[in-house]
Amino acid sequence: MPDNKTLLLLPGDGIGPEVTAEVRRVVDWIAKRRSVSFDIKEGLVGGAAYDADGEPLTDETMADALDADAVLLGAVGGPKWEGLPFEKQPERGLLRLRKEMELFANLRPAVVFDALADASTLKLEVVQGLDIMIVRELTGGVYFGEPRGIETLADGSRRGVNTQVYTTGEIQRVARVAFELAKKRAGRVCSAEKANVMESGVLWREEVQKLRDAEFPDVELTHMYADNCAMQLVRDPQQFDVIVTDNLFGDILSDEAAMLTGSLGMLPSASLGAVDAAGRRRALYEPVHGSAPDIAGKNLANPLATLLSFAMMLRYSFDMGEDANLLEDAIQRVLAGGLRTADIMQPGKARVSTSVMGEAIVTELDKQAG
Ligand code: NAD
Repeated sequence: MPDNKTLLLLPGDGIGPEVTAEVRRVVDWIAKRRSVSFDIKEGLVGGAAYDADGEPLTDETMADALDADAVLLGAVGGPKWEGLPFEKQPERGLLRLRKEMELFANLRPAVVFDALADASTLKLEVVQGLDIMIVRELTGGVYFGEPRGIETLADGSRRGVNTQVYTTGEIQRVARVAFELAKKRAGRVCSAEKANVMESGVLWREEVQKLRDAEFPDVELTHMYADNCAMQLVRDPQQFDVIVTDNLFGDILSDEAAMLTGSLGMLPSASLGAVDAAGRRRALYEPVHGSAPDIAGKNLANPLATLLSFAMMLRYSFDMGEDANLLEDAIQRVLAGGLRTADIMQPGKARVSTSVMGEAIVTELDKQAG
């Protein structure tokens, strides 16, 4: 790992600039108190980039993203840009980043913070202490497979086609990410597919098992049909540690798992790519939520999903697990102390703004670090 840690910050649109600003506070704290500094470059993405440059992501920003050790993105999109042609839309900027950085593994943790456990729609005893990680394959499967399209048949009716397709290499590289994560967690992976009805699922199951037997004998691997996995996630989510699954099932299962925690403003994510020649793994970190135009510019947004995404960056891109733990603990304590942004407000708690929440996290970090 190079000494100089380079971080590209792409605040984006709506609440993106507000929530990413709180990360700078923590970066400053880490520089001051932990003597680790980051070279931060800031760029435009989404509607903000379109307004400035006529493109949702310029080639220059794309090159910066490929050069950086890690990228942190706020959010893109909003009503202002909805009428733009398809290729100019804010989301195209994000999709270009994902494609050119070849981000094939999407990591979505579902963690229930003690102080927010009753925000879940599930019973407290089902979700309390929950800490699972969903690893979704992001660049293959039915969303990209060929042939695809809508055709008109001879009788005038129409036929829509998408193709679920996976190769050994695509399955193994995402499974490897899941096994490596499991080794740093509780050591268990559950692989979800539909091997009972899909050949691509049979291949998925076989290849994941082969990789585990060859390279990760210490990790416990189970297989589950994806529909059963959806049921088990609401019945008894604590049985899982890491779940690895394909693009389509992962899309659904990760949203389902997210809602076990009850709040969009608390959900971080990471997307990881291949390791490059210099030994760096391409990585983009972003909150799961969007640009929340309804509350943008009002200092109301919850910055915790973005701060938790930054904690993931510390852990997975910079091997700074101790600092990631410090930050996550600070968030736990601030919540336990009763501070809440509007989206997670509960009776008897103190409602605070985006910036006051960020300040409180840094105050807590100061206390923890002594
Ligand atoms: P959204 O996630 O932006 O907002 C949904 C609801 O949750 C809103 O009521 C919003 O106020 C609230 N919310 C979201 N994040 C919050 C936070 N951090 N703190 C407090 N409240 C929060 O989803 P949407 O309204 O469907 O989409 C708005 C825009 O965001 C659209 O243009 C959409 O395309 C875009 N979007 C972008 C991404 C991304 O950048 N990855 C993801 C989803 C949606």
